[in-house]
Amino acid sequence: KAATSKEVFEREYKSTAHNYDPLPVAISKGEGVYMWDVDGKKYLDFFAGYATLSHGHCHPTIVEAMRKQVGILHHTSRAIYHDKMYEFAEYITKKFNFDKVLTMNTGAEGGETAVKLARKWGYRVKKIPENKAKTIFAHGNFWGRTIAAISSSSSPTSKDEFGPHVPEFHNIPYNDIPALEEKLKDPHVCAFMVEPIQGEAGAVVPDEGYLKKVRELCTKYNVLWIADEVQTGLCRTGKFLAVHHENVKPDILILGKALSGGVMPVSAVLADDPVMEVFTPGTHGSTYGGNPLACHLGIVSLESMTEGKFDENAKKMGDLFMSELSSRLDRKKVPIVRGRGLLNAIVVDPEQIDTKYATIAMRDRGLITKHINEKVIRFSPALIITEEQMRAGIDIIVDALNNF
Ligand code: PLP
Repeated sequence: KAATSKEVFEREYKSTAHNYDPLPVAISKGEGVYMWDVDGKKYLDFFAGYATLSHGHCHPTIVEAMRKQVGILHHTSRAIYHDKMYEFAEYITKKFNFDKVLTMNTGAEGGETAVKLARKWGYRVKKIPENKAKTIFAHGNFWGRTIAAISSSSSPTSKDEFGPHVPEFHNIPYNDIPALEEKLKDPHVCAFMVEPIQGEAGAVVPDEGYLKKVRELCTKYNVLWIADEVQTGLCRTGKFLAVHHENVKPDILILGKALSGGVMPVSAVLADDPVMEVFTPGTHGSTYGGNPLACHLGIVSLESMTEGKFDENAKKMGDLFMSELSSRLDRKKVPIVRGRGLLNAIVVDPEQIDTKYATIAMRDRGLITKHINEKVIRFSPALIITEEQMRAGIDIIVDALNNF
């Protein structure tokens, strides 16, 4: 007999580590923007697995590609060649205009790879004295849970009691150009790593011109600009890459999340030859990174985003979402509605709205999303969402919050 929702919650709680505090809903099926729980109740998914399911659940093209490739060849390691790596590498480097790609699995591994690449470039090319390289990050950044990722974090919950942290990681305020310039003057700085829009911080959009200025300053001071587009990339913000909003090219680009179509962890780090060539055999790698299944899914997922004009739909649906929420929500309860494309968040007055219970009120009305903290609730539905589905979601969100 299948478990009920209550049984799922209790049994998972009893035998797993408590490093998450899940919304109480137990899903057993997904299709497009919809999910069903084990009791058969249907929901709109406005969370999409931390903005990973851009194609929605079980997209037929993705499922078919996975089925086909898994029955032909799924793993070799990169100790030998396979016939999907070059196809993926040629496709993705051409698409994003970089000389080379390096494949990993998770977003955090992509970040680790970028920081390692920047450090080695710092020693080899910029001639920073050994072990002196500094890396700059922005307050509020999120790029995962590894020791390096949390070392750059400004969140005590992520960071405290996990020390000692990685040395020479320095934080400056996000969206602060003078603070960046001050740091970049130091000749020991190898890189500035930043999200073009901060995702986990709650869809924080910098001022227009920020990315252009970051590009200019990094060039001026011979510092690598690493754009962490694990969350913002691949059409999420209404352009194929968020850096395209300002027509700029970072030195290192990190992609992940939706790169596989949401079925398995696939990440990629892109750079031009003068940077990527500092990696030589034995200096970096991953057992699963760039496996044939990952490479095949990467191509199919990118092709389907391109053909389906995911970027245009994200912009259109994102604009509708923002304008409807801005005009219909009780703005005393919800002073801020922000985001770009389909990477959005609201900031509530915590005296009037409890964000966790607000997401439960949405769940009860048939919509799933997650709060970030006591003030912020995020929304990141699949990029294939239709206007009708979007309007149904908006009605639920407005009803749940205005009647809270
Ligand atoms: N970078 C950004 C911008 C992210 O938002 C995330 C995850 O939310 C990551 C990196 C880490 O990705 P992963 O959880 O796949 O390691």
